Amino acid sequence: CGIVGYIGKEQAAPIILDGLARLEYRGYDSAGMAVYEGNKISTRKAIGRLKVLENITRGGESMPGHSGIGHTRWATHGAPSDKNAHPHTNEAGTIAVVHNGIIENYIPLKKKMTDRGCHFVSETDTEVLAHMLDYYYKGNPLETIIKVLQRVEGSYALGIMFADHPGEIYAARKDSPLIVGRNESGCFIASDVPAILKYTRTVYYLDNQEVVVLRGDDLSFYSMDEEEVEKESATIDWDA
Ligand code: GLU
Repeated sequence: CGIVGYIGKEQAAPIILDGLARLEYRGYDSAGMAVYEGNKISTRKAIGRLKVLENITRGGESMPGHSGIGHTRWATHGAPSDKNAHPHTNEAGTIAVVHNGIIENYIPLKKKMTDRGCHFVSETDTEVLAHMLDYYYKGNPLETIIKVLQRVEGSYALGIMFADHPGEIYAARKDSPLIVGRNESGCFIASDVPAILKYTRTVYYLDNQEVVVLRGDDLSFYSMDEEEVEKESATIDWDA
């Protein structure tokens, strides 16, 4: 039920854990994180309180990378469990996805991907996205994300990582909240402003059916037809 992501000069995991803690009021049953470690994605997730994820990562210390995404889950499809917690990945573990919302047509999509030889490890609606991204991926993450989202019905706020693009985090939304933030150290995504207010007051409101690419020092927004969108930042003048 909450998403936080960071890419920049700082270590990502402690920022993600801190941000997720500020979204705890939204409720959740499990939590997880994915962080780039070189050209690999390392993932940790656990049922229960955020404290459990904090403990298994030693407050984020065991995940030294500088970019990553985190999630607190409010189960809609599949019981609360370690396996059903996000992030979800493709079989090779080279694409990681966190998702808030519901993929309404995941049953036919899951059947199609199973027929294509994919093995699912969770009961979530979300996992199908990781397999679809893998199936359509030919080296261009933006094009692939748009191709997958055009086939998806439902609501989503998404954070996505590709192991062969460790300098980038992708995010998109439709009918679920997601904002983008930026400071002199890097860029953020979050379900809500309070998650990142400690780090920045400069935010961008992602519109429905927009995709954003975060790099350490720059942001690009796109519409679903792959056109770049100009976006003004807003300054938050209130305190959480
Ligand atoms: N539908 C997804 C799941 O059940 C995401 C739930 C959420 O928004 O946290 O795993």
